[in-house]
Amino acid sequence: MAEHTAYLSLGSNMGDREDNLRKAIELLSGNENITVSKCANIYETEPVGYDDQPYFLNTCLEVKTTLDPYSLLKVCQKIENDLHRVRIIRNGPRTIDLDILLYDDMISDDPILTLPHPRMFERAFVLCPLKDITEYTGTIPEDKSVRPVDKPYI
Ligand code: ADP
Ligand code: MG
Repeated sequence: MAEHTAYLSLGSNMGDREDNLRKAIELLSGNENITVSKCANIYETEPVGYDDQPYFLNTCLEVKTTLDPYSLLKVCQKIENDLHRVRIIRNGPRTIDLDILLYDDMISDDPILTLPHPRMFERAFVLCPLKDITEYTGTIPEDKSVRPVDKPYI
């Protein structure tokens, strides 16, 4: 089966944020169709959109997968549910948010799965970790709140 390369964005601002990131990475690695091949540094970032909530920890992963993009999205959503993500306010606090940024060079405007992720180029908290693990040379919007706090887990 053909192997695809995808980049995922992970964010957490509820509970034990580091543990949530670590568990999400473990659950992804535990999937027989997914290999986590690269992990960015961890960044602490100010919430964007809805301000009255704790700071996030964010990171990015490169994964190799035989899954098609929609199956990969399902795996991500199941992990969000397994980690008890509660979705009360749009852009509000969450134990884990797992987004697909890129899947090979696929372009899609399907609202279920938009690729590249429609807001990634506006978000320093996505682009800073992504730059750690890719050759990304585009501009990164200025956001002084984004600061590295930890080395990658793998
Ligand atoms: P957000 O990540 O924007 O804060 P959610 O995680 O609640 O919000 O996602 C809302 C919807 O976005 C999901 O139901 C999903 O189908 C859709 N979606 C569209 N494109 C993507 C993508 N590239 N990665 C993840 N979800 C996506
Ligand atoms: Mg999401």
